[in-house]
Amino acid sequence: MKVRLDHIGIAIGAADEATAWYRDRLGLQVTHVEQVESQQVRAHFLPAGGAMLELLEATAPSSPIARFLEKRGPGLHHVALAVDDIHSAMAELRAAGVRLIDDAPRPGAEGALVAFLHPSAAGGVLVELKQPAVGVGAGRPQTVPLFKTPGRLPLGDLELVTLCDGFFALDGGAMFGTVPRTLWERSLPPDDRHRIPLSMRPLVIRTDAATVLVDAGCGDKMDAKSAAIYGLDRRYHLDHSLADAGLSVEDIDIVVASHLHFDHIGGFTGRRADGQLVPRFPRARYVAHRGEWHDATHPHERNRASYLPENFQPLMDAGVLTLVDDEAEIVPGVRYRRSGGHTAHHQVLTITSQARTAVFTADMYPTTVHIPDPWVMGYDLYPVDTLTFKRAFAREAIAREYVLFFEHDASMAAGILRESGGKRSVERVL
Ligand SMILES: [Zn+2]
Ligand SMILES: [Zn+2]
Repeated sequence: MKVRLDHIGIAIGAADEATAWYRDRLGLQVTHVEQVESQQVRAHFLPAGGAMLELLEATAPSSPIARFLEKRGPGLHHVALAVDDIHSAMAELRAAGVRLIDDAPRPGAEGALVAFLHPSAAGGVLVELKQPAVGVGAGRPQTVPLFKTPGRLPLGDLELVTLCDGFFALDGGAMFGTVPRTLWERSLPPDDRHRIPLSMRPLVIRTDAATVLVDAGCGDKMDAKSAAIYGLDRRYHLDHSLADAGLSVEDIDIVVASHLHFDHIGGFTGRRADGQLVPRFPRARYVAHRGEWHDATHPHERNRASYLPENFQPLMDAGVLTLVDDEAEIVPGVRYRRSGGHTAHHQVLTITSQARTAVFTADMYPTTVHIPDPWVMGYDLYPVDTLTFKRAFAREAIAREYVLFFEHDASMAAGILRESGGKRSVERVL
């Protein structure tokens, strides 16, 4: 096992006082703060050379840090050592008879996986093993620049705000179906596990009458194993993005789904402290397509992994979900338009105001690299339907200069499709 010092955890009382002391006396600055719900702590990170100090503040009386403070007062709490593979590190320790507090790794701060060794087995020191967040943007070279800042675009009387629920990574081959790697790898270089970086970009549409959210990313319910497989990086997620855009979950009136795959609607529901799953947007009415709902609730072997009932069933149970059909008007100017292909009832959203049109393309154009008509994802259930829709849609989008939103493009949120001399390109808008 190869370990390196990652950080030293220090239990603190009042955060203002403690962080001021480190700043004024030692010249160490807090670079970011993170709430770790699973541990009921708020962690303040101060880089100190190659490692960090992590000042830990309890957020509830039952927090392990609150109990630590009660017993021993503020002071050194734990030493965190980074490992490449936490599962094999734990297995190695277990085989050597080292007592572990955790049976399995659990999510820690910064999207990492963590597990603790028992102090009695480690010379009286509480040792944390940490596998830093896997995938794009964390601990490995980024293959493309990641763009996460909320972007605003006025469209006639409407305002569009593109948000970000973080990044994930999927197998590059699966993302490009029958297109050979040699053709796409220069645009989207895969990582050492053959995955390409993808974003999750929900869109807010603000009208005089309502604030509408289209899709909501994968949310925070994913288990650690899936998060590792999908290279999930939600250090910056929808709550941060809403706040940066001056919005909160309370502001959303209508939440609409392009389709019911987990990377689009995982954020529709959340888990309360008592474990119950509830609508994440407390005031909102939710909208989904009737046919998509049928398919999601009657999955087969090919699509079952994408349709997780925890993301949509609680909405139906709470009576906040309305099912609609093709061409449904969500609010004036905002409509479903069936693209099919990816799933039988996959919808793009057309947004029109004062003769200008934007289209939220969801999984029809997952990234700007998918612009060529036959570049269709291997995930699509009906790839020839995708091709047929794209062929007609692209001509229309070029002629009418639609602003296209790319939900999974890690580097570009929106652009306009152009064609000159038979070559297509996307002009960045956001
Ligand atoms: Zn999908
Ligand atoms: Zn998707």
